[in-house]
Amino acid sequence: MPDKLTLVATQKLMKYYIFNQGRLLLCGDEVPGVPNVLPECVACEGLRLFVKDDAEEHYMARSHQEQLPEGYQWVDLRESYHLLPERIYLKAGKASELLYFDQQHRYCGICGAPMEWASSISKRCTQCGEELWPKLATAIIVLVHRGEEALLVKARNFRRDYYGLVAGFVETGETLEECVQREIMEETGLRVENIRYFGSQPWPYPMGLMIGFHADYADGEIALRDGELRDAAFFTRDNIPAIPGKMSMARMLIDDWLGS
Ligand SMILES: [Zn+2]
Repeated sequence: MPDKLTLVATQKLMKYYIFNQGRLLLCGDEVPGVPNVLPECVACEGLRLFVKDDAEEHYMARSHQEQLPEGYQWVDLRESYHLLPERIYLKAGKASELLYFDQQHRYCGICGAPMEWASSISKRCTQCGEELWPKLATAIIVLVHRGEEALLVKARNFRRDYYGLVAGFVETGETLEECVQREIMEETGLRVENIRYFGSQPWPYPMGLMIGFHADYADGEIALRDGELRDAAFFTRDNIPAIPGKMSMARMLIDDWLGS
């Protein structure tokens, strides 16, 4: 992680959100006034989309430029969570999602004509008028309680070697509660009951919504069924393994359990 990097306007929202391959442009505090006076060489002349939000204007852009002027740096959006105030990180996530949406919907799926922006959050076909809004990939994540214990799992696709929680994408025609039950059954062979909503979190990687739940163990023996997990076990509060970082819903659920 960059050490000297800080956001210029820590209290005010940034005006520009500029990305290069999933990385957000940030600058050091030795460049006062930036990013509102970004040099043209940094703000690519390509897409420049503006969103009006909270009566402020925000611009999003893609840049193809790798080399940056002194004081600027590309930072992975995930890493920017640790550098930015939360509301600015969330705004950057929204910008990233809209840029992804734009890239994925350049042409109409019905007639093949080019799409253009119709509002700050939608695109319209220039030929047939079909209008599209970004579609979120909705996922659940759940902490299963068994008495004083919690079920923690190690997934094959985790970026680091830690234990997290059962999670998965909601399928069409499925309620959130059905998804929680199905994912736990598929991944661990357990049945749960008493499913309680915990909270939700935008997850712009690339365009998701994570919805967290607590649930109680009902019955069954742990069996790693579908190959998504390397390990799954119940842990007590005084014996927890390495767990995910603060930004994740998994960690918020685990912290909630640890504090209860
Ligand atoms: Zn069309």
